[in-house]
Amino acid sequence: MNERETYQDCVIYARYSSHNQRDASIEQQVSECEAFARYNGLRVVKVYADRHLSGTTDQRPQFQQMLKDAERGKWSVVLTWKVDRFARNRYDSATYKYRLKKHGVRVVYAKESIPDGPEGILLESILEGSAEYYSANLAQNVKRGLRFNAEAGIANGGHMPYGFRRGADGRHEIVESEAAVVREIFSRVAGGEKLSRIVEDLITQCVPTRAGGKWRTGTLRAMLSNEVYAGVYRFGETRTEDSVPRIVDDATWEEVKRHMDSVKGTRVRSENYLFTGKVRCGLCGEPMVGRTAHGRKGTAYSYYCCRGHRQKFCEKKDVRRELLEDSVVSRVLEALDDAAVVSWIADSVMEMQKREAEKSRTAPDALRSELAAVKKSIKGIMSAIEQGIVTPTTKGRLLELEGEQGRLENAIAEAEIPAPAVERDFIVYWLTRFRGGSVGDAEARRDVVESLIHSLRVWDDHAEAVLNYAGEEKAVNVPLAPVDGDGGGSPYEQSSWERFYCKPDHSNVTRL
Ligand SMILES: [Zn+2]
Repeated sequence: MNERETYQDCVIYARYSSHNQRDASIEQQVSECEAFARYNGLRVVKVYADRHLSGTTDQRPQFQQMLKDAERGKWSVVLTWKVDRFARNRYDSATYKYRLKKHGVRVVYAKESIPDGPEGILLESILEGSAEYYSANLAQNVKRGLRFNAEAGIANGGHMPYGFRRGADGRHEIVESEAAVVREIFSRVAGGEKLSRIVEDLITQCVPTRAGGKWRTGTLRAMLSNEVYAGVYRFGETRTEDSVPRIVDDATWEEVKRHMDSVKGTRVRSENYLFTGKVRCGLCGEPMVGRTAHGRKGTAYSYYCCRGHRQKFCEKKDVRRELLEDSVVSRVLEALDDAAVVSWIADSVMEMQKREAEKSRTAPDALRSELAAVKKSIKGIMSAIEQGIVTPTTKGRLLELEGEQGRLENAIAEAEIPAPAVERDFIVYWLTRFRGGSVGDAEARRDVVESLIHSLRVWDDHAEAVLNYAGEEKAVNVPLAPVDGDGGGSPYEQSSWERFYCKPDHSNVTRL
């Protein structure tokens, strides 16, 4: 073990707007983000910075580039100084976060972990969820039909995988000659043969491919991971077992999967530790950072490790990532089984939304009177110019005022965009959609951690999670049973959740 370690990679996004005098410079933002990254065990691989000079446009080329680069999955965190660097408003933020999320990337703020109180985080997560929900619903009618087909094992358009043809009823039908090739490939890989060797043989034996092209290891790799050969038909999120005649038996399929996974495991990829930036050691208070170590056979083991322990002044043992994440997430999901808790959260978020809407309604009025004053000053200078009074100072002042006018006009236009409203039903749906689900669902884990967990302290035998709806004193106790232990009868077992979900009290929520 510990032969090689991988870190969680992140990028920094910084933005400077020249019209706000109090704005931190790009350099200042980057250096604070870098310090945060160092402290929290993140490795910075790239810095994106937009210098927002004109004030009349929100085009952010570096931001767009960052979104594009996220698709390549090279890093898993965007680190930004404060919430307002990332997006202009909560709605934009939610939309961008949703785009990033599709590529397994999340946003971490170096400066404030709570933008405007805990409900802010929840509202943003729910908006993010609704962006996802509504974009998914756009194509719903089409999808519904396709899903019905998928469940019945009827192929939806597209080409049939090698080994199958479309039968008269639209279902998969085995092409025996091709199926024999598939079986041979699977059984040779299961026997430990190298893909390149098999490809060579296929070529020398002149086995035709479907499209008349050449066999490649990539073709084989795609085939070996396609569940259709084990009888599973997959369409989007719909996965239907035994809906396709199978070509490969279970034992062979599992063996091949094991081989492919062990090959995959040796590749270095950025790890995503959900608790980065939120988790501290219970013994010494230092952050716990994610580390992945690779064993001799390429198997990866991920841990949260106390920085103090790594610097040899703390006794805290490393915690297996799965153990910590599973225990905490399942504990929080348990809470959402309680209808009263869900309804209370939904009410708070609706309340928050109302306040937000109120804020945006009053904003334009203040801006409009500011704009009127600026226009009046411009008029004054213009008449001075007409009377021939022109000094370099007047000229400079005029340019300044015109810039200010542009900024205010933009700000008014922005403030007038109605705040998107989320209905209470949607909030309830969002909070309860994981009910009875497994904590192994990566998306559920991420959403739960991002939206509900404020911070976490970890001891060797238990952890304390501070939820976004509870102060430090009411932290939730999470027993950390050893992986193979019985897990029952822990002294940390908590029976009642209500006390953690009492009235929101933000006074004692510590900002990280
Ligand atoms: Zn420690």
